[in-house]
Amino acid sequence: MRLARKLGLALVLGVWLVLAVFAITRLSRERELFDVDMRGDHRVLATTVAPVIGAQWHNQGEAAAMRMVRRIDAARAHITIRWVSLTDSPLPESRPIVAPSRLAALADQGILQLYEERTGASAEPPRLVTYARLVPPPPTNGALELAESTAPKAAYLRATAYDTLIAIVAVAVVCGLLVAALGAHYVGRPVSRLIARAREIGAGGAERGALALKQRDELGELATAIERMAEDLTEARRREVKVVEAQIAMLEQLRHADRLTHAGQMAAALAHELGTPLNLIRGHAQRVLRGGRSPEQVMDSVTAIAAQSERMTELVRKLLDYTRRRPAQRTPASLADLVTATNDLLTPIAAGKQVRLTTTIDSVPPVRVDVDQLQQVLINLVLNAVHASSEGATVSVRVGSEATVSMPGSAREKVSCTVVHVEDTGVGIPESVLPRIFDPFFTTKPSGEGTGLGLSIARDIVNEHGGSIAVRSEVGKGSTFSVYLPVEPSWAGLSSSSTTTPERGTSSTSS
Ligand code: ADP
Repeated sequence: MRLARKLGLALVLGVWLVLAVFAITRLSRERELFDVDMRGDHRVLATTVAPVIGAQWHNQGEAAAMRMVRRIDAARAHITIRWVSLTDSPLPESRPIVAPSRLAALADQGILQLYEERTGASAEPPRLVTYARLVPPPPTNGALELAESTAPKAAYLRATAYDTLIAIVAVAVVCGLLVAALGAHYVGRPVSRLIARAREIGAGGAERGALALKQRDELGELATAIERMAEDLTEARRREVKVVEAQIAMLEQLRHADRLTHAGQMAAALAHELGTPLNLIRGHAQRVLRGGRSPEQVMDSVTAIAAQSERMTELVRKLLDYTRRRPAQRTPASLADLVTATNDLLTPIAAGKQVRLTTTIDSVPPVRVDVDQLQQVLINLVLNAVHASSEGATVSVRVGSEATVSMPGSAREKVSCTVVHVEDTGVGIPESVLPRIFDPFFTTKPSGEGTGLGLSIARDIVNEHGGSIAVRSEVGKGSTFSVYLPVEPSWAGLSSSSTTTPERGTSSTSS
């Protein structure tokens, strides 16, 4: 129930209660006053006529006294006066209204007042009956009986009760209507506006001064406080957005710094890798320049020079692509292509350390990823694996499908994933170090060789893609890092065969 209605109802009930108590008190006082009045009238009349009739009896006999009783009775409209016998067996017309047993006290008191006893379902209200002894007492055992009906009193009380009830109902209705109208105007409507405004602020629509209540009461103060809160919230949100933007920019810079670190390593390895094609080009060029070669031989040399140039251009382009800064953008991509490209980029570094890189790629559906970011993840993992491996070892990258429960937010349900395992047989990670390897700036590499950012960046990127990274490692035996990426349900049945690499579905080895 609405607050205004509750207050209104409480007020109406309160008014009703007060008026009802007032009415009951008033009615019972009226009843008492009536009773006192009637008794007083009876007493005055009885004390006045008892000595007169007693004297009449004493002086002129019973018959004269009875005549006087009848005269007095005839003169009174509301009170019936008669002489009643108090003997054991009175005649019916002189029998008292009240049972003689209730009149025992009359002998001592001289005057006795009591209400008639009504038996059964009589509609008539009881009469007030007053008995008075004559003074001086006559020879016959009897008393003067004054009887008066209480019907007028009952009718008056009924009318009073009825009037009071009407007044109570009228007051309650008027109060109710007034409270409903004023409650709706001063409480209901402003409170509804406050609620709507609070919802609007909660939903982010905290426009300045949208709620202007002109009331100078608590609700008006509340509206002002809400508006102030809305302004504070807007300001806090603005500050929060700035902080988040700054954090994102910093994160981007860190990620780029990480890429440049790898690019430096790759460039150094590439310089070494370019030596072979350059030697080949120079040899072919010198042969052509020396002359004396058939047109077919010159053609062969030119073709070889073009092929080697193409290879060098491709290697340099991939490296430049990796270092270039591009806005984050998720597109459907083939993990096979991504793994192959990563393999191409890192092969010179692996070769420099006499480490073999192998890839095993099962048929998997495409994934929606930011290709550059995911490549950064793979490069981090493969480079770490190469660094941890000794000469002649193999680092294998496997792509497949799995169902896992270790996804963020997956609760206990298994989620279908595409997974990339990067496995090495290198030094492994000690148990004491394992919990810290994803911390930013944690590194066990000598100063200048590691930034400690690779795994932390990799985990952030994978988490941003709704995936997770798991690690298994044993000291002296090697480590396996597994990247799980959720499969889009609508792509679950697809395979990325359209973007397949020559190695897809087979095991390819490069060294
Ligand atoms: P960095 O490579 O610059 O040290 P990372 O965040 O990539 O930073 O790695 C943090 C640490 O995790 C490494 O210094 C190393 O101790 C450990 N680590 C990561 N990958 C491997 C791995 N394949 N084998 C052994 N240790 C690893």
